[in-house]
Amino acid sequence: MKVAKFGGSSLADSTQIKKVCDIIISDEDRRIIVVSAPGKRSASDTKITDMLINIGNLRLTGAEANAEFDAIAKRFEDICAELNISFLFPSIKEHMKDIIYSNINDKDRFMDAVKSLGEDCSARVVAGYLNTIGHKASYCNPKLAGLLLSVSFGRAKVLPDSYDRLSILRESDEICVFPGFYGYSPEGEIITFSRGGSDISGSILAAAVNADIYENWTDVDCVYAVNPCLVERPFPIREITYDEMRELAYAGFSVLHEEALYPAFRKGIPVHILNTNNPCCQGTKIVAKRKNYDSLVTGIAGEKGFCTLNIKKYLMNREVGFAVKVFQILADEGVSIEHMPSGIDSISIVLRSSDFSAEKERRVIERISLELEVDEVVVNRNLSIVMIVGEAMANTVGTTARAATALSKAGINLEIINQGASEISVMFGVKDEYCDYAVRVLYREFF
Ligand code: ASP
Repeated sequence: MKVAKFGGSSLADSTQIKKVCDIIISDEDRRIIVVSAPGKRSASDTKITDMLINIGNLRLTGAEANAEFDAIAKRFEDICAELNISFLFPSIKEHMKDIIYSNINDKDRFMDAVKSLGEDCSARVVAGYLNTIGHKASYCNPKLAGLLLSVSFGRAKVLPDSYDRLSILRESDEICVFPGFYGYSPEGEIITFSRGGSDISGSILAAAVNADIYENWTDVDCVYAVNPCLVERPFPIREITYDEMRELAYAGFSVLHEEALYPAFRKGIPVHILNTNNPCCQGTKIVAKRKNYDSLVTGIAGEKGFCTLNIKKYLMNREVGFAVKVFQILADEGVSIEHMPSGIDSISIVLRSSDFSAEKERRVIERISLELEVDEVVVNRNLSIVMIVGEAMANTVGTTARAATALSKAGINLEIINQGASEISVMFGVKDEYCDYAVRVLYREFF
C-alpha cells in the first residue's frame, strides 16, 4: 500500500489535477492520497493558502474582504467547471463562507480555520473528480479519521494516539482523499501545522497505516546534490538516508518539510520524491540504509540567516555550570541553540537570526555580562552555515581537510568549523556574502 501526497503546484489548476488523478489511478496500491491547497499556476501567481491568509488578516481588521473572497471562490469555480464537477461548487463555496464569515472570538483559532480551507476544498475536488471518472473515492475528514493535534495554532504537533485511530484507513475499500496541513484539537477546533505542513500529514498517515512507501509528488525530478539555482545541471541524488536528508534539510534543502521525515523514519517507511509533471522519472528515495555509496559526499547545502553569540571568560573551563547558566538565559528568551563550538575559555553559540531580535540580544548580553561576569560577550550577525553531508565520510580520512583547503584556496575565511559525533556532516560558518560561492567551491571539489 502506498500513501501519496501531492503538493500545491500539482493541484494548481484543472490540468494539474487531471495529471494527479492519472497518477493515482495508474497504480491500485495508491490508496491514501494527501493533498495540498492549489499552489501557483505561474511564477507571478498567488497560492490559495496565501490568499486565505490575506483574507483572514483583512477580516481581523473588520473588513468584509468580498473581492478577495470572490477571487478564491472563482479559482475553485473554474477548477470545478473544467473538471465537470460544477455540482460540487455550491457546497465548497458555502463551506468557505461559513468559516471566513464566522464570528471571530479568537484570532489564532480563526486564522487556522481559514488557512485549512485550501486543503479541505482541494480534497473535496480530487475525490469528486475521481468518482466522476469512475473510481470510487471519498473525501476523508481529519476529525472523523481522528487526526488530533496539540493546541499550538499554526505549528501543531501530532498527538501520539492519532496513529491508532488513523490505522483503520488501511481497511478502506475506496481511495481515501485526505486534506493535508491540518487536524483537530481534542476539543474539536481546526489546527494547522506550520507552512508546508501537508508533507507532515502524509508522513503521519504513511506511518499510521504502515504503508510500504510514502510518495511525495512535487514539481522537481529529484533531489539534487546542490541547489540547482547555484550550479548548472547538478548531480541527481537517487538514494539518500533519512539522516543525510535531515542534515541537508536543516541547511536549506527545502524539498520536504523539516518535520515530515520523522513519522516515516520511525517506522522505516521509505519516502519517494517524484515529479507530477514527469512521472516516469526515477525520483529520489529516502531510506534507512543506502545500497550504494558511490560518492563520498551526498549533498552540499548553504543557508544564510545565522549569528553567533561569542563569550570569553578566563578559566571558563573550570567553572562548573557555566554553560547551563548561559543556556538558561537563552531559554528564558525562548531562543533555541543551533550549534555550540567551543574553546577552553570561550564558547560560540550559533543561533538563527530570526529567533534573536535586537531586543533579545540586548537583554541576553546584559544578563550574561552581569550574572556570569564574563570578559567579553559579542554578537556577530550575517553568518551562513555551509554543510557537506554524506554517510561515506565517516569511513574516509581527510574529507574535512579537502573541504577546508578548497575553501581557503578560494579565499573564503572560515568563521566556524563543526563536526558532530555521527561524522556524517561537516559544517562551516562563513560570512553571508560567501555562502553561495562556498557551496559552488565545495561542489566543484567533491563532484
Ligand atoms: N498549503 C499549505 C502551505 O502553503 C500547506 C502545504 O502546502 O503543505 O503552506
